[in-house]
Amino acid sequence: MPTHDAVSYIGRFAPSPTGPLHFGSLVAAVASYLRAKSCGGQWQLRIEDIDPPRQIAGADRNILHTLETYGFRWDGPVIYQSASHEAHQQSVQALLASELAYPCSCSRRDLADAPQGAMGSIYPGNCRSGCTARDVAIRVRTDDEPIGFSDILQGYVSQRLESESGDFVIQRRDGLMAYHLACVVDDHLQGITEVVRGIDLLESTPRQIYLQRCLGFEEPAYLHIPVVLNSQGQKLSKLTGAEGIPDVGDARVLSAALAALRQPMMTNSERCPLDELWSWAEAHWQVQVLAGATSIATHN
Ligand code: GLU
Repeated sequence: MPTHDAVSYIGRFAPSPTGPLHFGSLVAAVASYLRAKSCGGQWQLRIEDIDPPRQIAGADRNILHTLETYGFRWDGPVIYQSASHEAHQQSVQALLASELAYPCSCSRRDLADAPQGAMGSIYPGNCRSGCTARDVAIRVRTDDEPIGFSDILQGYVSQRLESESGDFVIQRRDGLMAYHLACVVDDHLQGITEVVRGIDLLESTPRQIYLQRCLGFEEPAYLHIPVVLNSQGQKLSKLTGAEGIPDVGDARVLSAALAALRQPMMTNSERCPLDELWSWAEAHWQVQVLAGATSIATHN
């Protein structure tokens, strides 16, 4: 684990190895990178490989190679989320021991009639007062105190978890860790001071802050950038068929990512050597031009 005592800003980029790096992930990588550099901080790279059924063999190496050819340089070793499985388990055990979490045997069918909220079905609390089944998921017990935070770009966001999402899963029935739990534990282990990521995760953040509070972790700052949409208005992702960017660093693609982030453009940026483009982008980076922006349209 890198030491982070002397550095006051530690950011990260945390791709899931579910396919090649597409333009939307490049934009998120560029934003988190330039933000960290402009704050004189570290930029760490974490591969979120805790969901083997969704992963593609070799996608991690492919992502690392692509980032490298575009000129990204990360601080410390690449962190594989699967390596902190024990720490994830310890946090789940700590939450169980303090009765902030409980086992849940509800199947999808049991929850078919659960009320629907903006974040999906709201857990109705069937197993809150105990369940005796063997193969169980673990849920964290929520309450209805508002959980709010001030996002650097999106402003104040607040949720009442019990009524808006209900008690949520932190460990799945198949034993795999849920994203929220793993993300919060790893951000803590890495000493992350600010999370820069796509706005599609904005509504996940109160759940993550709630977990940080339950586990006694410090809360990082949050900065949610707009997501890139395809010509049908869908978020670029593997699910919407987004293609990988060329895996040989290309100034035209990096320039397009900077333009998507509304950054001032250097003359002839598309024909410029990548290191010059990066130096210019670092020197001219400004984040507030994205204040309140939720999406970036592209014509792909
Ligand atoms: N692994 C997530 C993704 O690829 C990002 C999670 C995060 O930044 O918290 O969308």
